[in-house]
Amino acid sequence: MTEGRIQKALSGFYYVAAGDQMLTCRARGKFRKEGVSPLVGDMVEVRELGNGEGFVERILPRRNAFERPAVANIDQLVIIASGAIPKTEPYLIDRVASIAALKDCGVVVLLNKCDLDPADRLYDIYTAAGFPTLRVSAETGDGLEELKPLISGKLSAFTGNSGVGKSSILNALDPEFDLKVGEVSQALGRGRHTTRHVELYHLSCGADVVDSPGFSSFETEELNLELKRRLPETFQEFRPYLDDCRFVGCSHTKEKGCAVLEALRAGKIPKSRHESYLRLYEELKPLQEWQQKNKR
Ligand code: GDP
Ligand code: ZN
Repeated sequence: MTEGRIQKALSGFYYVAAGDQMLTCRARGKFRKEGVSPLVGDMVEVRELGNGEGFVERILPRRNAFERPAVANIDQLVIIASGAIPKTEPYLIDRVASIAALKDCGVVVLLNKCDLDPADRLYDIYTAAGFPTLRVSAETGDGLEELKPLISGKLSAFTGNSGVGKSSILNALDPEFDLKVGEVSQALGRGRHTTRHVELYHLSCGADVVDSPGFSSFETEELNLELKRRLPETFQEFRPYLDDCRFVGCSHTKEKGCAVLEALRAGKIPKSRHESYLRLYEELKPLQEWQQKNKR
């Protein structure tokens, strides 16, 4: 058996990187019977047939799996934001950072376009919330050397609102990135983000990346329901206080004796993070009611 990682899935074929070769594989029928399907990012065992072909025989245990984009074993989300146009709303960052927490995924906040605007407000919020936060410019290359050690040897999903500079950053990191992506778009005859095709790209700095469209692409109804159930703990800087609230089941929105609100007043939790918490709390509320109704 050969062990490798699925780099790409296309038309029923899995392309597995094993050492320095790329094996073109089919999956065993048993996966379909068991209701599991191999995902891009999966570590798998392949039975080689020769000629660079093989069968995926086993999927090794996953760190996590996302339905959208359909990918497994993401180590971290690199959340790209900007203080220049398009200016990123903290709420968008917080929402996707919470989803990362649900999936046991790290987060790196990358503030791009710092040649135009230093994004001071975002920098202060995310540094205070405890996220590795970097200022970069894809245009000038500033900050990119500091980014490399944070992504090297890991599988990262790059996400951000459209126009924030995702492709510019990936290209600045590795000028061949666009070429690699271009091949696939061309082969499929479609644009970069118009397919559901997912692929891992290996950058020259040793990072593996999945390039995914906007923040909202990670959301599914199931994830949102789980987020509703586990919301407080997905705000990492709330965690030290969650056991100290006066009431069990405290919602950390307005209760007396709430340790989270107290930490907020003491300046230990960024105000904007708690505002996002409140907004998410309200937004996810009807979802849970809907689910309970269906259960009766
Ligand atoms: P994407 O939609 O997130 O992939 O964004 P793009 O990489 O296509 O970038 C959108 C626009 O912003 C393009 O016109 C880029 O040239 C520009 N851009 C990207 N990064 C920077 C940057 O760091 N500084 C400046 N000034 N412009 C940038
Ligand atoms: Zn509380």
